[in-house]
Amino acid sequence: MSTTQPNVERFDAIVVGGGPAGSTAARRLALAGAHTLVLEKAQHPRYKACGGGVPLRTLRHIDLPLDDLIEGEIRSIEVTHFGKRSFVKDCPQPFAYTVMRDRFDQRLLEGAAQAGAEVQQGSPVRGLELDATTARVTTENGCYETPHLLAADGATGPIARWADLGGGIQRSAAYELEISAPEMALQRWSEAANIDVGYQPWGYGWVFPKQGRLSVGVVLSPGHGNSIKLFTQRYVERLGLAGTTVTTAVGHPIRFRRSRDEIIARGPVLLLGDSAGLADEFTAEGIAYAVHSGALAAQAIDGSSGDAAAAYQRAVDEAIQPELDAARAISRLYYRCVTTWPTLALAVSKRVDYFWRAFFRVMRGEASYDSELNRWPLLRLSTKVL
Ligand SMILES: Cc1cc2nc3c(=O)[nH]c(=O)nc-3n(C[C@H](O)[C@H](O)[C@H](O)COP(=O)(O)OP(=O)(O)OC[C@H]3O[C@@H](n4cnc5c(N)ncnc54)[C@H](O)[C@@H]3O)c2cc1C
Repeated sequence: MSTTQPNVERFDAIVVGGGPAGSTAARRLALAGAHTLVLEKAQHPRYKACGGGVPLRTLRHIDLPLDDLIEGEIRSIEVTHFGKRSFVKDCPQPFAYTVMRDRFDQRLLEGAAQAGAEVQQGSPVRGLELDATTARVTTENGCYETPHLLAADGATGPIARWADLGGGIQRSAAYELEISAPEMALQRWSEAANIDVGYQPWGYGWVFPKQGRLSVGVVLSPGHGNSIKLFTQRYVERLGLAGTTVTTAVGHPIRFRRSRDEIIARGPVLLLGDSAGLADEFTAEGIAYAVHSGALAAQAIDGSSGDAAAAYQRAVDEAIQPELDAARAISRLYYRCVTTWPTLALAVSKRVDYFWRAFFRVMRGEASYDSELNRWPLLRLSTKVL
């Protein structure tokens, strides 16, 4: 049992990182009456390497107005295989919005502050001391302690490493360009996305529409990131965008938790969002899981009189991990097919509308990968064989 030292300020909960995971958790905790501190390394608005694709399912965990932040809507997907064998699938309604992460994340962080959380920006956490019940963190401004430390410090943050959690989480590379594209290209991709497949063993290139620009990037599977800049450059050339103005080009890892055996919470420390590897290996998106994990962490702390870390890990295992597992299974099947038999696989995926309706339902939050995979036991079986 630790006692608070002089000059150490105590909080009910401390959140490290004011991205989607941390801000969601902090807002929920503060609304529930918890004395909450957010320590954020950067000053918001800050750039975050991200396509900014926000599937509609993300919004169910966010209780803040976001309409004015929407840069674009996505209603159709063009699928290509290294620029060839193209086909387009339309969804009757938008299934994703696009946002600029600087403004989106700032809105969520402001939401935490409005709910009563104390937010310190420009305050990177420099050190962590742990015992069984208490975490003590230090920044340049001070020293703070808490029974609940929520590590929402992203894919490169230090807390997971310092707390010896999530050591087996896999890490992949993604590279994103913001391109001030000519009007013709903006028109071409208005309300539409391109997904360019064929990368071994999995990965894809994307184009997402934004206001006056396009997000263009490539994500590759863990261990295959070496050529990502070259792949991105070639992709940009295939899109006919070589020579256009690139305003930002940034690479950043994404982390994937592949098993319930991966411990993501222990004692006073809970890992959230990218820190916990909560991104899926089919679309490589993580914002929806980040905000979901923020909500689950707040709920576990607020609702548990005992071991909040255990309650949180159980909640993630029940509510998020089945999605990550199903997405990984689908990813293995789909990308294996499109890399091994591209002509056949693209012809089949062009013709099987069921697949696309299911995908749009998942993106809109009307179904889950897991429930869709359960409808097709043979498909689930084939994901284990391939
Ligand atoms: C190139 C790329 C494209 C992507 N595209 C998409 C997409 O289109 N859609 C999608 O859903 N997902 C996408 N993702 C994934 C998505 O960006 C992440 O899953 C999401 O940002 C995770 O949110 P988070 O809150 O966990 O972490 P982050 O958003 O990374 O936030 C972590 C925060 O912690 C802060 N921090 C770090 N260290 C410290 C410290 N020591 N002290 C204090 N604060 C600290 C950081 O400054 C940051 O603000 C993409 C990822 C990449 C790399």
